[in-house]
Amino acid sequence: MAEALPLDPRGYRGTYKLIGGAPALDFANLVSYRGTDRGHDWLAPDANAVTWAHAAGLAAPAGDDIAELREFREVLAQVFLDLVDRTTPSSADVSRIGELAASAWGDRKLVLEAGATAATWTATSPTLLAEVALDAASLLTDAAALTRLSACEECRWLFLDTSRNRRRQWCDPADCGNRARQRRHYERNRRSPAR
Ligand SMILES: [Zn+2]
Repeated sequence: MAEALPLDPRGYRGTYKLIGGAPALDFANLVSYRGTDRGHDWLAPDANAVTWAHAAGLAAPAGDDIAELREFREVLAQVFLDLVDRTTPSSADVSRIGELAASAWGDRKLVLEAGATAATWTATSPTLLAEVALDAASLLTDAAALTRLSACEECRWLFLDTSRNRRRQWCDPADCGNRARQRRHYERNRRSPAR
């Protein structure tokens, strides 16, 4: 069971959790029930982006445009959901991820501090957009990780299924798993003959 991140829900009766196993997937999951009447945008208010970036261990959105983050979030969701559905993602979307990831590399400097055992790639002025894109690109180039890419059967949040038998069905068994069980129970009772 994952813990809810303290994002401002703006009256929405639900929680957001880091359940993706990769920042790029958790970023795509910043919409609950995408495309349904239960849908909710977690990038509103803007301050949620700061809380999210901090929790995900990425650069705070200093020079980021929230509208652009929101647009890119939908690109990522589309690409990864296409892969879950075994559909080839749009090459324009994949290129866009690549261009942004390349800009994240362009922003990096190789630094070897005196006395350090190894050099590190250090971002000089990271943006959240580019850092998320870099994570998405590294996932997209990792064939082994992609075999574990899956989506919740209830809400379609994305995650890497690291369970041993690869049969994880839900974002969180305590949320969507519960809801699915309750609905099945209700449907069973409704179908059973009247007394
Ligand atoms: Zn779910």
